[in-house]
Amino acid sequence: MSETPIGSITILGGGTAGWMAATMLARRLSHQRMTITLVESEEIGIIGVGEATVPVFRLFNETLGLDEHEFMRATRGSYKLGIKFCDWGVVGNTHFHGFGDYGEPLQAVAPHQHWMRLRQSGETAPIDDYSAPYALARKGKFTPADPRDPRYSHAYHFDAALYARALRNHAEAAGVRRVEGRLADVEQDSETGHIRSLILTDGTRVDGDFFLDCTGFAAELIGKRLHVPFEDWTHWLPCDSAIAVPSVRSAPPAPFTRSTAVKAGWIWRIPLQHREGNGIVYASTHMDDAEAEAILLGQLAGEPLATPRRFRFKAGHRAQFWHGNCVALGFASGFLEPLESTGIQLIQNGIGRLIEYFPDRRFDPSVAAEYNRVVRVEWERIRDFIIAHYCVSQRSEPFWQAARAMEIPPTLRYKLDVWRATGRIPLLDGESYQEPSWAAILLGNGFLPKRYDPLADTLPLEAARGAMARRREDLARAGRAAPDHQAYLERHCKAAH
Ligand SMILES: Cc1cc2nc3c(=O)[nH]c(=O)nc-3n(C[C@H](O)[C@H](O)[C@H](O)COP(=O)(O)OP(=O)(O)OC[C@H]3O[C@@H](n4cnc5c(N)ncnc54)[C@H](O)[C@@H]3O)c2cc1C
Repeated sequence: MSETPIGSITILGGGTAGWMAATMLARRLSHQRMTITLVESEEIGIIGVGEATVPVFRLFNETLGLDEHEFMRATRGSYKLGIKFCDWGVVGNTHFHGFGDYGEPLQAVAPHQHWMRLRQSGETAPIDDYSAPYALARKGKFTPADPRDPRYSHAYHFDAALYARALRNHAEAAGVRRVEGRLADVEQDSETGHIRSLILTDGTRVDGDFFLDCTGFAAELIGKRLHVPFEDWTHWLPCDSAIAVPSVRSAPPAPFTRSTAVKAGWIWRIPLQHREGNGIVYASTHMDDAEAEAILLGQLAGEPLATPRRFRFKAGHRAQFWHGNCVALGFASGFLEPLESTGIQLIQNGIGRLIEYFPDRRFDPSVAAEYNRVVRVEWERIRDFIIAHYCVSQRSEPFWQAARAMEIPPTLRYKLDVWRATGRIPLLDGESYQEPSWAAILLGNGFLPKRYDPLADTLPLEAARGAMARRREDLARAGRAAPDHQAYLERHCKAAH
């Protein structure tokens, strides 16, 4: 135990980032006996649009001790087995990025290599046919994977406002103190520059040893008071706008998110139990707001339930996520477009690293430096994965031509070069996405390697054909036998209203 432990944490902001941090810190650091205070302003409100997640999010809820079915009922959620991409590589193309792999290696060679070999010999089955989550998703089925079964995993879609409410209840029950108010001023130590107190507009003063900036795009502490610069990634990810609108549910909830590419961006559709969440993400340099809104509304499957909401953002992140005695989480720390639903994941990673590197009141700069190094790498890996969706597309509109022509980050260039030469993805440190995910996006977009792994030839062609056909049939059978996603929801997680 440190001789100078942190006695109090003050979190400014009560959106997804603020309440996730408050809940998890109260749970994991209870042995430190510190007070946790969260300040938020109802007048400002929250963005609250993050509605799709990735499988690692399940760990967050598990650590909090949240029962999955109860969580799904409370947030009117549905299950997510992956993302169906429509019109991405070329108009008319579809492919699936499932939460799973393409099966066990055959003769120590990854299945997508055998798939490429069979393709050269005239096989036409798409790579998706070897994906266990796709076998369920394509038929609108769902059954939870056995946790010991590596073939697939699942995540959730949920109502972000209901999730924020559930987290708040959880945090307050765990002893987190909530203060309603709006930031007016910040008192800093004249020598170290560390934050000492937040002064609210009604004069309330909230002290703390350690501060979390969860104020969303306002970045009140990390940006406006500590002046940590923003590293701009717009030149790689030019989408800077979004419009979101909920709509009446048009069909039974699909167990996947849909992402449809359009002339200068893409549209999401997220099914919930009581409605669908929809939105368009676009580059304002290639498409104006009116056109984007018309495209979005034109694609809705059901009647809109509210007036569309607009958002502006910039891809990139703070040069330091942790500065002095302040750590930024959520939008305050940076932004990556929600193409792979990684916003909440990045918050979760940030909180996890914070617990790993939790400081004491000496605030040794090496601790912050290491936190910043690790978190930066995690952001950069996800950034590269998202850029890959764009830069391998063959679509012809100017936005897509520019994505193909741009100079990509050297880490991504290296990955794509190795992929072209070998059909393998070199994994670096801090990766969120493993080889099957890269294969899903690259093969799905038609970005094929120049050759398959020659080791695949050690298996006679007919033996490979037979083994791969058996896999397809096994998966198709499992897909037919599984319960409908809607039936599963009604049986286990039906929301009260
Ligand atoms: C269009 C869009 C779609 C997205 N979709 C997904 C998705 O599908 N999946 C996913 O994982 N992520 C998604 N994200 C990202 C996700 O929405 C965010 O990660 C998440 O909402 C984090 O929000 P936040 O808590 O940082 O900020 P906010 O929700 O903006 O909360 C900020 C908080 O700070 C408070 N505050 C601000 N200024 C002050 C002040 N001066 N005084 C007091 N309080 C203040 C506010 O009151 C509020 O409580 C999406 C983002 C966008 C823009």
